[in-house]
Amino acid sequence: MAAKKKSKTSEGTPSQPTEPLSRLLRLPSGPVDMAALDPAATHGYPGVGKDDAPALTEALAPELSDLQERLYANGRSEPEQAPSVLVLLQGMDTSGKGGVIRHAMGMVDPQGIQLTSFKAPTKEELSHHYLWRIRRALPRPGMIGIFDRSQYEDVLVVRVDQLVPVSEWSGRYDEINAFERKVVESGTTVIKCFLHVSFEEQKQRLADRLASPEKYWKYNPKDVDARAKWPAYQQAYADALERCNTEHAPWFVIPSDRKWYRNWAVAQLLREHLVGLDIGWPEATFDVADEQTRVAES
Ligand code: AMP
Ligand code: MG
Repeated sequence: MAAKKKSKTSEGTPSQPTEPLSRLLRLPSGPVDMAALDPAATHGYPGVGKDDAPALTEALAPELSDLQERLYANGRSEPEQAPSVLVLLQGMDTSGKGGVIRHAMGMVDPQGIQLTSFKAPTKEELSHHYLWRIRRALPRPGMIGIFDRSQYEDVLVVRVDQLVPVSEWSGRYDEINAFERKVVESGTTVIKCFLHVSFEEQKQRLADRLASPEKYWKYNPKDVDARAKWPAYQQAYADALERCNTEHAPWFVIPSDRKWYRNWAVAQLLREHLVGLDIGWPEATFDVADEQTRVAES
C-alpha cells in the first residue's frame, strides 16, 4: 500500500511549521523593498488553507498558556531577575493590531499581560521626551507586554505629517536602537511585528467597516486621510524597518492580508520566543516535605 500522504483534512495536518517562523518571517538585514514583501504570503503555515486556521491557532493555546505561566511564576518569585517579553505591533490602519491582540494574545492569562495602546500623545506626554511614555509601559519582570503602536509612530506619523522637523525625527532611528538595546539588556525579549497589509486589502476592510452598523465604531474618517498618504507611509515604514532591524531587536514582517494567517503567525512567533527562553518553574522557597507534614497535620 502506498505510504499515507499528508492528508488534506485538518486531522492529518501537521501542527508546526517546517521551519521556525522566527527565521521565516525575520526581515533580512539590508535595504528594504516594500514591493518585494508579499502581504498575502503564508510562510511556514502548516495547514492547507483558512479552514485549518482556527484549529491550528487554538492548538497553540495549551502550550502558550503553560509557557506564560512559567514566565509569570518566575516574575513572582524573582522579581529582580525574571525575564519579560514585549510584543510590539505596528501596521497601517486595518492591518489588524486589534485582531492579533484578541485572537493571538487572547489565548494567555490576562493577568500576565500588560497591554498599552499608543494614541496621539496627550498634553502631558508631549511635555516629555517621546520615549517617556514608552519606558513607562515596558513589561515588568514575568509579564508579556503588548504595544499596540509604539515608539515607531515617532518616525512614522510624525514624519509623514511633519509634526516635528526632519532634523528632529532623523536622529530617532539611532536613538530607538540604543533604547531597545537597553531594554533587551535588562531582560526583555522584544518581538517587533510589522503587520503588512496591501493597499487593496485596506480598501476592502475600510469598505467592510462602512457596510455594517456593527463595524461603524471601527471606522475612523481619518484613516482615509492616512490612506491618501500611502506612498509616504510606505517610505517611512521602509526606513524604520531597515534602520531599526538590529540583532538585539529584529523586525518580523507578518503578511496580514489573510487575517487567519496573521493571527496564527503572531501566536506562533510568541510561542517560539517563549520556548527559546527555556523557563523552568521556580524552586520552592520552603521545605516541601516539612510543609506537606504541616498541611497533613492541620
Ligand atoms: P488607533 O490605533 O486607530 O486608535 O489610532 C491611534 C492614532 O494615534 C493613530 O492615528 C496614530 O497615528 C496616532 N498616534 C500614535 N502615536 C502617535 C504619535 N507619537 N504622534 C502622533 N500621533 C500618534
Ligand atoms: Mg484605527
